[in-house]
Amino acid sequence: MSEPTSETGADAFDVVIVGAGPAGLTAAIYASRGRLKTAVLERNMAGGQIALTDLVENYPGFPEGISGFDLSQKMKEQAEKFGAEMREIEGVAGLRSDPEGCYVVVTDREEIRTRSVILAPGVEPRRSGIPGEAEFIGRGVSWCATCDGALYRGKTVAVIGGGDSAVEEGMFLTKFAEKVYLVHRRDELRAAPIAQERAFANPKFEFVWDSVPKQIDGAEMVEALEVENVKTGEGRSLPVNGVFMYIGQIPNTTWLKDTVELDEWGYIVTDGLLRTELPGVFACGDARANPLKQIAMAVGEGALAAVQVERYLDELEGPPETAPAAGEGSAAGAQR
Ligand code: NAP
Repeated sequence: MSEPTSETGADAFDVVIVGAGPAGLTAAIYASRGRLKTAVLERNMAGGQIALTDLVENYPGFPEGISGFDLSQKMKEQAEKFGAEMREIEGVAGLRSDPEGCYVVVTDREEIRTRSVILAPGVEPRRSGIPGEAEFIGRGVSWCATCDGALYRGKTVAVIGGGDSAVEEGMFLTKFAEKVYLVHRRDELRAAPIAQERAFANPKFEFVWDSVPKQIDGAEMVEALEVENVKTGEGRSLPVNGVFMYIGQIPNTTWLKDTVELDEWGYIVTDGLLRTELPGVFACGDARANPLKQIAMAVGEGALAAVQVERYLDELEGPPETAPAAGEGSAAGAQR
């Protein structure tokens, strides 16, 4: 770890964006195109959850679908083209205000001063906590079908969950696996109807209804998943080589616990204009308490957050001597 540095005074960023998923990258495109000095911090590689998604079919403009990885790389490229500074593999540990009215973003490498902040830290997959889950990570337990699916050619896997992720990633796994058990705690899926129709029509799926995972067994690698029927209490051992968990997501906000308001599930609370209770700190994307976790939603919120930042900074500076024309050089005007 390098020595902490501090960007002071005129060197402070106009905006630091925490998280480089679709929300954060869109905010970066708008902010940097609006000529704001912009940094994007990302603890992993840019892209967030979508970078792990095989095919995105419902983002407008791609009638054939686009790989999540390709879409996120294009967003990153676009942000960099307008001058946003990407800092990947740099985790954020805290946020505090400083006496001069700036914010200090504390990362695992440095302290960065900024006049405003956009929080777009996204979510991560929820863990089940069952015996064997942690022990078999990398040896049969996975949260990423796109990354690991090809390892299961001709094998049998189980997917846990009944939402869009479980069904879509399970469909992806049928490209490789001979059989995919879909284990769901109820007897109907939560996933979108189109995804359900495809899954029901796929002969490689076997649905294990009303069942929850209890234990993952194996010697070196995963060999079986023990499940229990929640209605009958009956146990069943599924002979599988892999277990893919898609039982929901948790927001990456523990580091914000004492900084901004979070709801009971840990999502960031904002008003309709994406303002947190801290002036100049906005939130967008999946980690915000919003009703729709979709790329299109994250992108819209990212754009709005950047425009809000620009308005906030304009207010801080007071009225300009000559009002800028809407259009070039303004995130608010850069709406095309
Ligand atoms: P989700 O919609 O929250 O679904 C989680 C699933 O796991 C549910 O079926 C839930 O069962 C089950 N579950 C939760 N806790 C469990 C536990 N402890 N044990 C067993 N099962 C458990 O999560 P997601 O599928 O990851 O999706 C997250 C968000 O992203 C959603 O809004 C989704 O629409 C969106 N998304 C969209 C797309 C797309 O548009 N193409 C793709 C992926 C995700 P219950 O149904 O009984 O609650």
